[in-house]
Amino acid sequence: MHRVIRSFISSESAGKAAANYNLKTMRRKSTPQDDLFGLWASPLPQGQDQCAKARPSRIQYVRYARVAVDEPVDGLFDYGVPLPLVEQICVGSIVEVRFGPKTTCGCVVELSSSHSPEISPNRILPVKRILTPEYRISPDLLELGKWMSDYYFSPLGQTLRCISFFGFNHFAPEIQVAYSLTRLPGSPSGKFTEKQLKVLRLLETSHFPLSAKEILRATGVSASVLDALLRKGLVQKVLTEKREVSAANLIPVELEAPLPLNADQNRALAAVRRAMDEQLSSAFVLHGVTGSGKTEVYLQAIQHALDLGKEAIVLVPEISLTPQTLQRFSRRFGNTVGVYHSKLSSREKYELWRRIESRECRVLVGARSALFAPFENLGIIVVDEEHETTYKQDSAPRYHARDVAVVRAKMCKCPVILGSATPSMESYFNCQTGKYELLELPHRVEERPLPEVHIVDMTREVAEGDNPALFSATLVEAMRQTLESGQQVLVFLNRRGYFNFAICLACQNVIRCEHCDVALTYHKVGNRMLCHYCNFQQPRPTVCPQCGAPEIAMLGLGTQRVEEELTRLFPQARVLRFDLDTMKSKYAYPKAWQQIVNNEVQIILGTQMIAKGLHLVNVALVAVPLADVSLFQPDFRAAERAFSILTQVAGRTGRSSIPGRVIIQTYVPHHYAIQYAQSQDYRGFYEKEIRVRKVLRFPPHQRLIAILGLGKDSERTRELFHEFSRIVENTAHPHSDEVSVLGPTPAPRARLEGQFRWRLLLRSANTSLMRSVLRRALERWEKTPRHSHITLTVDVDPLDLL
Ligand code: ADP
Ligand code: ZN
Repeated sequence: MHRVIRSFISSESAGKAAANYNLKTMRRKSTPQDDLFGLWASPLPQGQDQCAKARPSRIQYVRYARVAVDEPVDGLFDYGVPLPLVEQICVGSIVEVRFGPKTTCGCVVELSSSHSPEISPNRILPVKRILTPEYRISPDLLELGKWMSDYYFSPLGQTLRCISFFGFNHFAPEIQVAYSLTRLPGSPSGKFTEKQLKVLRLLETSHFPLSAKEILRATGVSASVLDALLRKGLVQKVLTEKREVSAANLIPVELEAPLPLNADQNRALAAVRRAMDEQLSSAFVLHGVTGSGKTEVYLQAIQHALDLGKEAIVLVPEISLTPQTLQRFSRRFGNTVGVYHSKLSSREKYELWRRIESRECRVLVGARSALFAPFENLGIIVVDEEHETTYKQDSAPRYHARDVAVVRAKMCKCPVILGSATPSMESYFNCQTGKYELLELPHRVEERPLPEVHIVDMTREVAEGDNPALFSATLVEAMRQTLESGQQVLVFLNRRGYFNFAICLACQNVIRCEHCDVALTYHKVGNRMLCHYCNFQQPRPTVCPQCGAPEIAMLGLGTQRVEEELTRLFPQARVLRFDLDTMKSKYAYPKAWQQIVNNEVQIILGTQMIAKGLHLVNVALVAVPLADVSLFQPDFRAAERAFSILTQVAGRTGRSSIPGRVIIQTYVPHHYAIQYAQSQDYRGFYEKEIRVRKVLRFPPHQRLIAILGLGKDSERTRELFHEFSRIVENTAHPHSDEVSVLGPTPAPRARLEGQFRWRLLLRSANTSLMRSVLRRALERWEKTPRHSHITLTVDVDPLDLL
């Protein structure tokens, strides 16, 4: 018997169906047929086909579900709804279905009393079951999912799995034994021990029964205390639904009142409140230096949303989801705050959803995907540190949470605040064009001074042998003084500094691409310099092309080398490395934090992680050994990132009474990113940078789409990707005045995890034209015989061009 699932292709998804560029991995597991749906026509092994047995041959369903399956395919697929499920199923339900040879999950996108005419009725398979029947993706989140799927070229099913609050999983409420008070103890008198009182008070303030574990964890008493209260008949055992209760929520937090705002804060808040009252979906960029009181504005705007009976979402970069940040929200909003991050299990996310569902949780603070909180009456979205690159997801759907936040806010008719000390070029540009509204907090709260920033010109430092010096005499002396006075030094390293670049020590000229103006990257293989945008190549220069001096240095910076050098220079000081690698474990972070607070370490060596959200009270010196590592990445955003990170790092000091000092070492002291970071002049930087972007036709003036091609075989990947690129070029050709094609070029990380990586960039000011060119090109590519031999991934508005 043959089984065929035919796709339901609506006129809208017809174009999309051809964009099944990720089908390769699925095909390999089954028959090597090349037509799109041929694979599903293969016979299934006997005995595995449970559905076939359960299904009479000519069943007529009364309901049909059109399902977006969690597979790398586009289009919706028709399934029949068995009678027992008809009552439960709704649009947005998560279902389990048969898909070709396997069982998969999907989301019901449409329900109908008829199936698509092109499918013969006895070929329609039943929905197997509904996962977590009481949950469904709400209509407005479905809308958002469709928009994302279309905009980001990501299959709808996979996009919806990402939007679904706890993925596509099945949960039933878990029952547990818990404890509650039998009667209110009134004012318990002296006959209770101190420990017993602790438990009684906890149960009194809790809205719900607590498990023994929760009680013991929150009060620190032993189990015998609870037993004694049970024997006295003051506490009873009850069966309740298990729920996610974080220890922090159990200990009654001391609520903090809102602070009286200063004039700038008031102005900003008023604008946001007005938008909320009038149900305007305005996007606000809240630009304020670190410590200018942005968070206080968020808090009071959220309070206004709550007062209106609405809910709020706060996005923060994952790395700043620190206890410090969360406490500020809990202190203000108590138990209505929920926390959502990638380390939660899907079970914990499910429990959190139940708190949202019951409206106990009305403020959700979290990383990227907290944006998809299923609030029904959203009053405001806050995106803190909106310039952060972690808001962009680096697997499908490759969405940018800030941009999707603006879309969601528009759909919900609520305002969104994008806050930053150094807004992204995109957001600030949108303010200039009137798309977003700019709100400014130009001063630090209580006029605390900004730290002093010194620039050290490294071309004047004596080179040691072959290696240019790592630490200048000025920096070493400053570190020595700081350490001697018992204060801490923070040494900042750029996590993204993978690439070496070439610079002339005589004239400070960095070797750049003639066409793209980004720094060329040095490759040991072939001893050559390469442009990662247009593939321009040249041999490693021996003399400077600008001044002719033979003083070309290759610069780069390894964490390890810095650590060794610090230990050599300051053998008595304890060095703590604080980066993604050393902070992997859940316990590493609080431990490191304690060591810093207790002054057990004197030098903190860290990456971007330390530039965020931490209030480092005893840090009196921030050192950036080589700012140029950020500046000369093969990325047109390098200057923006360098400026942003230097400004943020500088903001780490001067937060308390100790005046902060910042030393930045560089070979290009006159570079505008360094100069503006020194004066902490965002506006100056923006004005300069936006002109550069305009001339080079990079975002935000024009938009980009990156297409990456991956394959295991070096030669074949190159060949096929060039074939694909020719198709794109031909498709774009009639529009060549509007859509340009850059590349193909090896990706900067040309080989990763055993795969060879090639890249093509599309660039245009006309986004919809560019997207339709790409759709048509992908359709054509799908029809070529060997298209499935490489994997293509599409990245719209790419951030990381690695
Ligand atoms: P940002 O988010 O811009 O870095 P914060 O909101 O964290 O700034 O404010 C910095 C510090 O100033 C915090 O300790 C905060 O409590 C305090 N602060 C904020 N607004 C006010 C205000 N209006 N009056 C007094 N202190 C304030
Ligand atoms: Zn180039």
